[in-house]
Amino acid sequence: MISLHNVSKSFTGVPVIQSISLSIARGDIHGIIGASGSGKSTLLRLMNLLETPDAGDVEVNGQKLTALNTKQLRQARKSIGMIFQHFNLVANKTVYENVVVALELAKYPKAELRKRVMDCLQFVGLESFQAKYPAQLSGGQKQRVAIARALANHPHVLLCDEPTSSLDPHTTAEILRVLADINQRLGVTIVLVSHEMDVIKSICNRVTVLTDGTIHDTVAITPRGIQETVNTAVHLVERLK
Ligand code: ATP
Ligand code: MG
Repeated sequence: MISLHNVSKSFTGVPVIQSISLSIARGDIHGIIGASGSGKSTLLRLMNLLETPDAGDVEVNGQKLTALNTKQLRQARKSIGMIFQHFNLVANKTVYENVVVALELAKYPKAELRKRVMDCLQFVGLESFQAKYPAQLSGGQKQRVAIARALANHPHVLLCDEPTSSLDPHTTAEILRVLADINQRLGVTIVLVSHEMDVIKSICNRVTVLTDGTIHDTVAITPRGIQETVNTAVHLVERLK
């Protein structure tokens, strides 16, 4: 689903990502962990070309992003959602308007805007918050709005940069449940950057450990975590009926 081939990136001559090759399979929840400054955010931003690599290729959903022109790239980015630690909502727009913006930018059919926004807000459990402003929401609610916005254009991939780092443990667990749900019910491939192994372990099935802009290792996490364990148990019980 996502392939990086010998991707490098420097800022003002300082190498930050050094010839990284990485494959993330469709349907995975892939964690990226590493110390502050190891290049996690840069690596994530290279996956939707928010950062342009100095060398190497980036392929997402069968499309080589590094070979596209600006217009083609804008089109390809519709299928790649992104969420951030500080939510990045527009302060003077309502919850509804924050989600609408993503659809308008993507030139979504006007007649279907309202239904799509409400479907996305319903998915994250915030349909009754549509008229509120970001300042009236808790951190967890703000992140849910950001998730609704990221889902609006039916993405195949969701890139998450420290999505729970500003949240308390209870809210963190709630947001991770929403992400696991998106992965399982909508089939969205998720890349989750975090500096907390507990967060990674609870929903990821693979993790890449980054040190100084290089991949130290990529390993499978088994068992897959709480969500998978619960699902497996449910399937087993159903099979035994
Ligand atoms: P953190 O855990 O603190 O978020 P990170 O692993 O996400 O760190 P990055 O944000 O990818 O790390 O940054 C890696 C290195 O690249 C850092 O040394 C940072 O200062 C540098 N860097 C990142 N973006 C830029 C930029 N736009 N211009 C210059 N240097 C940058
Ligand atoms: Mg970062």
